[in-house]
Amino acid sequence: MITQVIHDARKIVIKIGSNTLAKADGTINPEFMKDFAAQCADLMRQGKQIVVVSSGAQVAGVSTIDRWARKKDIHYRQALCAIGQVELMDNWRAAFGASGFHIGQLLLTKEDFQDDHRTLNMRNTIFTLVDEDVVPIINENDSVSYEEIKIGDNDNLSALTAILWSADLLVLVSDIDGVYDKNPKEYADAKLIETVADLDALRGSISIGATNGFGTGGITTKLEAAAKVTAYGIPMLLANGSRPRFIEALANGSQKGTVFLAQEDL
Ligand code: GLU
Repeated sequence: MITQVIHDARKIVIKIGSNTLAKADGTINPEFMKDFAAQCADLMRQGKQIVVVSSGAQVAGVSTIDRWARKKDIHYRQALCAIGQVELMDNWRAAFGASGFHIGQLLLTKEDFQDDHRTLNMRNTIFTLVDEDVVPIINENDSVSYEEIKIGDNDNLSALTAILWSADLLVLVSDIDGVYDKNPKEYADAKLIETVADLDALRGSISIGATNGFGTGGITTKLEAAAKVTAYGIPMLLANGSRPRFIEALANGSQKGTVFLAQEDL
């Protein structure tokens, strides 16, 4: 199933979570970024188009300035994102540059997606960058999006992006293999659910734990993202980015994950 959805998709949005971008000590992981960029470059050379949604501004901010790690105050978190976004994009530029590709940055908020004029401009920018083989890298504009107008998590942001760009597939890259029937960190007999056709039935059958580490989402926002894109006919793949060349492994069937089928495929 995973091999098939990757094979069939030409336009792919890939979202990378903060826990995947950061090493265990909380600093940004340039080796991961380089390996990921090289895999995207391979996909683009095969004729696929890639848009990246990257979290990690806050974690990069903490490791850059080495202060405020424990501050919960929104102003400090926004300041950390402002610092870290620069660091993050610097690393993405180096990573994609090593594979021969340029990148472009888009910082978006919830309000941007609710405004027709802005969505048209966002669409045009993304289409132009992609047509010219430049990789758009998107994050939430954390310094202007305070609590009430925040999307809050990049799972939902990547779903809105996939719909805006009319993508063929959304891939959420995380530090878990996919959706399990119960928390695999607590239960050794937890089973990976490889295909989801009915999200409501899934919600009723699994126990959803809390988020941990630097990510804001957890499984709840991943299911929200799946609900959004599958309703628009876009399948979603949830997969683990911890191993090198994981996209290749997913594409050749040697790594498992969870595929959420698009409504029109049912
Ligand atoms: N925009 C936040 C950041 O880059 C992360 C949001 C999320 O974890 O989904 O740090």
